Amino acid sequence: MNVDPNFVRDIIAMGGKSLKRCMQCANCSVVCPLSPDENPFPRKEMIWAQWGLKDRLIKDPDIWLCYNCGDCSKYCPRDAVPGQVLNAIRARILSEYIWPKFVGRTLNKPWSLPIFVILIPALIIGGILWAIKPTIPTGEIATSEFIPIEYVEIPAFILGGWVILISLIGIWRFWLAITDGGGMNVTVKPLEDANINVRASGGFMGMNFIVAFFFVLRDILYHNWFKICETNRPRLPAHFLIFYGFLGLGLVATIDFISIYILGVHPLPWPWEIGRGGVYDVLAIFKGIALLSGAALVIGACIAMWNRLYHNRKEIGGYYDWFFLLVIFFVGVTGFATTIARLLGSVSAYYLYVAHLYLVFMLLVYAPYSKFAHLLYRTVAMIQAKAWKREPKEVPVGFWEGL
Ligand code: SF4
Ligand code: SF4
Repeated sequence: MNVDPNFVRDIIAMGGKSLKRCMQCANCSVVCPLSPDENPFPRKEMIWAQWGLKDRLIKDPDIWLCYNCGDCSKYCPRDAVPGQVLNAIRARILSEYIWPKFVGRTLNKPWSLPIFVILIPALIIGGILWAIKPTIPTGEIATSEFIPIEYVEIPAFILGGWVILISLIGIWRFWLAITDGGGMNVTVKPLEDANINVRASGGFMGMNFIVAFFFVLRDILYHNWFKICETNRPRLPAHFLIFYGFLGLGLVATIDFISIYILGVHPLPWPWEIGRGGVYDVLAIFKGIALLSGAALVIGACIAMWNRLYHNRKEIGGYYDWFFLLVIFFVGVTGFATTIARLLGSVSAYYLYVAHLYLVFMLLVYAPYSKFAHLLYRTVAMIQAKAWKREPKEVPVGFWEGL
């Protein structure tokens, strides 16, 4: 066994300070509604983390199946808060997959905030502004005259490519870890009937995987796994709003791109301009979706913060959680403030726009290293669990069921 004492210190520093209280009673594994009957979590993760068995946790997909619902923390007789400990384990283990590793390790430490998180994006955005030397236009507020749209779009594409590349490297390493490079020498194994297919296909799940992908997609879109949590119920609306807020904004960003470069329309017309006819009306609807999505992001972040601060204080979270929530909140707020200032004809719209771009840049550039990355790792872990027939105890299947 490879014991890493620094790993225990890291987990404690990242919010898992109650880790050592665990006495291995297994209550948590029994009450966890998402844990499969076979080889359940989080009891085994608690002892591995206590002993500093980092290598086992790197290979463990179960830490990503936890939705931090808090049910286990409520019933833990030792107040070891296993939900919060698993959260800290995820934050720490993420840096073992991503490239370069030291970036993830560094960004997860609060001292990195002023230098890496705030200063580096500020220097990059400042450098772009210095290069283009924008001047505040007179007349109607038009952000695209202040910073030409190509200076936003081209860096956004480069950034998007970087995020995809780093995420793919991380996911590939994660996959190799949880399948031991395609072998079956892993911490959790497929159940026997799933295992037959795995062996038959030389380690690749084949059809199991494709079918599992669609079931998992449904569960994610419907937020089915959130619905079976009892203790931390406000996470359902919070996550729902943030998730669909991002989805809506991503959709509108794509439409905006098509609108600029194919249709030659910029900016998108306001929803109250519907009536101009043709493509303008369609684009105005998408602008409406953007406004609704931005509102969903801000409201969702507010519910999540309220939940951590007042409703479920046991799982208040650490720097890893709060950095993500605060950046989301301020991205939404600066987006709305820019829109309002623009409608009022105030030049403050230009300054708010720069602040908004800065925060969006910060959110995206650190996405593979921050809590944002859970979207990918959890999805892959869920697909693997489904394909390996390691199902949660009971999951609602319909969109409205369990709400
Ligand atoms: S975390 Fe709590 S409930 Fe789970 S095994 Fe440890 S003491 Fe028991
Ligand atoms: S927080 Fe919820 S999902 Fe995670 S281990 Fe505990 S009971 Fe299970």
